[in-house]
Amino acid sequence: MPTIRLINHQPLTVRVSQFTFQAPFAHRAGQHIVLQAEIRGTLVRNYYSIASPPFPDRQIELCLRHDGEFGGHLRGLAPGDTVECSQPAGKMRLLAPSDPAVYFAAGTGIAPVRAILLSQLAANPQAEALLVLGARHSKELLYREQFDALAAQHAGFRFLPTVSRDDPAWRGRRGRVTDHFAEALAGRSDLAAYFCGQSEMVAALCALLRSAGIADERQCFERY
Ligand SMILES: Cc1cc2nc3c(=O)[nH]c(=O)nc-3n(C[C@H](O)[C@H](O)[C@H](O)COP(=O)(O)OP(=O)(O)OC[C@H]3O[C@@H](n4cnc5c(N)ncnc54)[C@H](O)[C@@H]3O)c2cc1C
Repeated sequence: MPTIRLINHQPLTVRVSQFTFQAPFAHRAGQHIVLQAEIRGTLVRNYYSIASPPFPDRQIELCLRHDGEFGGHLRGLAPGDTVECSQPAGKMRLLAPSDPAVYFAAGTGIAPVRAILLSQLAANPQAEALLVLGARHSKELLYREQFDALAAQHAGFRFLPTVSRDDPAWRGRRGRVTDHFAEALAGRSDLAAYFCGQSEMVAALCALLRSAGIADERQCFERY
């Protein structure tokens, strides 16, 4: 198995960190990898989506829960440490940079969605794209500052963050990402749709998109 080498990691929220690794391979936006490590005498494998678009230097960013078994192990690594890693794989990909697109993500499901969205805006800065990002609390909206900045830079990009739990200071949208489906689609059926999250959210979005006239081959998703 090839290895990836840790460059650094930094907390994004109380539960999630971003890890930057040097990879020996090139990847396509939307793909995932399988990491493998021996943790307390047991060989453990975990899937992680690559949260960054392809960079020329082959650095990759992962955005992951650091409070579980594997995430905790990764958090204990120091820069320069290596982790066994599969080749990138998976069916999520940018369909066409010129296609108007709608993106939905909740929690760490933002990882492959971010990679594809950043690829689309890099390839086509005028792209018509909209992201609905969900979290329980506003402090858990991953990469919120980056998406706010992208919305300010790209006239065609809209960012709709939403918070599902009680958060008195939050003045924005409330509820789950699916609660904002109608606003995001605005009656359109000509969009490519990219989404990632827990199975229940993914199943709900598949059904909503189908009923909105967006064919299965225009739906690109990953479920965790
Ligand atoms: C294709 C694919 C891509 C994935 N990409 C990512 C990714 O980019 N980032 C990522 O964080 N995970 C991702 N996952 C999930 C990941 O593989 C792990 O299952 C998850 O991170 C928990 O691993 P752990 O060993 O650290 O925690 P565990 O010890 O297995 O979990 C401990 C507990 O923490 C909670 N928990 C931990 N992680 C999550 C989570 N992501 N969502 C909800 N609850 C959680 C749960 O309550 C869980 O029972 C992906 C899964 C798949 C199939």
